[in-house]
Amino acid sequence: MASPVGKGLVAYNAAISRCARAGLHRRALELFAEMRARGLRADEYTLPPVLNSAALLRVPPAGALHALLLRDGLALHLHVSNALVDAYAKLSRVGAALATGSLRDARTVFDAMLTRCAITWTALIVGYAQNGRGRESLAVYADMVRSGCRPDYVTFVGLLFACSHAGLVDAGKAHFQSMQSEHGVAPGPDHYACMVDLLGRAGRLDEAVDLLDGSPAAELDATVWKALLAACRTHRNAALAERAAAMVWRLDPADAVPYVMLSNLYSRARRWGDVARVRALMRSRGISKEPGCSWVLVAGVTHVFHADDGDHRRAAEIHRKVEEMTARIRARGHVPDTEWALQDEAPEGREEGLAHHSERLAVAFGLLAVPAGAPIRVYKNLRVCGDCHAAIKTVAEVYGREIILRDSNCFHHMKDGACSCGDYW
Ligand code: ZN
Ligand code: ZN
Repeated sequence: MASPVGKGLVAYNAAISRCARAGLHRRALELFAEMRARGLRADEYTLPPVLNSAALLRVPPAGALHALLLRDGLALHLHVSNALVDAYAKLSRVGAALATGSLRDARTVFDAMLTRCAITWTALIVGYAQNGRGRESLAVYADMVRSGCRPDYVTFVGLLFACSHAGLVDAGKAHFQSMQSEHGVAPGPDHYACMVDLLGRAGRLDEAVDLLDGSPAAELDATVWKALLAACRTHRNAALAERAAAMVWRLDPADAVPYVMLSNLYSRARRWGDVARVRALMRSRGISKEPGCSWVLVAGVTHVFHADDGDHRRAAEIHRKVEEMTARIRARGHVPDTEWALQDEAPEGREEGLAHHSERLAVAFGLLAVPAGAPIRVYKNLRVCGDCHAAIKTVAEVYGREIILRDSNCFHHMKDGACSCGDYW
């Protein structure tokens, strides 16, 4: 988008917000820098899109922007502060800065705000929830209700997510009840998915099924049934898994996830005939999986890895590291679980394939390139497979490193051989 040459603040504000809305986040930040270089002072309309673009690009200029808007008194505007709290909370999610540091900053801005609305409270609730700090989410929510602010649809998504990830079954059920009866917010698919996840983690599959059977079918989308399917896989309930998979197929026929989950479940039960049947079904329906990939951010550069990737400049070194990792975790007692082979891109259940899943290559590169003492942050586009999850936990232990793996579902903070997800995701 062209610069609004010779124009003033209003033209810049319009151009920045147009770029941000169009997803041209880098351009939005460039225009902001250019505007400031011309001596124009940002106002309360400039900053929300700039903060949002910065957060989405995982760049942490929030500190500098924060100082700027305090100086100019802009933090007094509710929507500016909301954008700032949200930007810090988002940064903590993507891990561009130390998660706890960003959450602290979000909290600082939040505490300094004179007025707050549902968006402000919700940003903080979601920020805590997504960083595995469920109890703090609940405490913020309690303050929100006490303050007289009305929680909305998104607030409850954050709250139920927090309950589910912190294993707070009773609190989750109580909030789910009260959202409609006390706050007049009708539960939607996101809330049902959280509840199924919450009950599934606690092993209460029957309760989850009762909840869904008694709910309006229109509110139950494929996400809800996939949450049930994941619970069935964990608790090895094949009959219910078939029912959940059939629902996903009806609602989202192109989704590969049910095939992968069913295949995992059957192979863990050693029901090879059923494994073959599910794979054949997947092939006959022409379903192919999105290829898995993982990435690591080192010194501001993103390094992307695919399974069996030989493309990286340091590929030979990385593969030697993978071999070393495999040997060291095996010595520590890690037994490869080849039943997870179809989770990722490896064609068959070969141990060789598992060792070269993209997340392991990314972790190996992290061990080589991230300075000792700093956490290794790895991102994955799909859910991490069970074998990689166990293997990377052991890697964190034997190498004495903190590894933070963000997969398509949640954060895994791995340290000393344990994971923040409690091995349920
Ligand atoms: Zn894997
Ligand atoms: Zn985990």
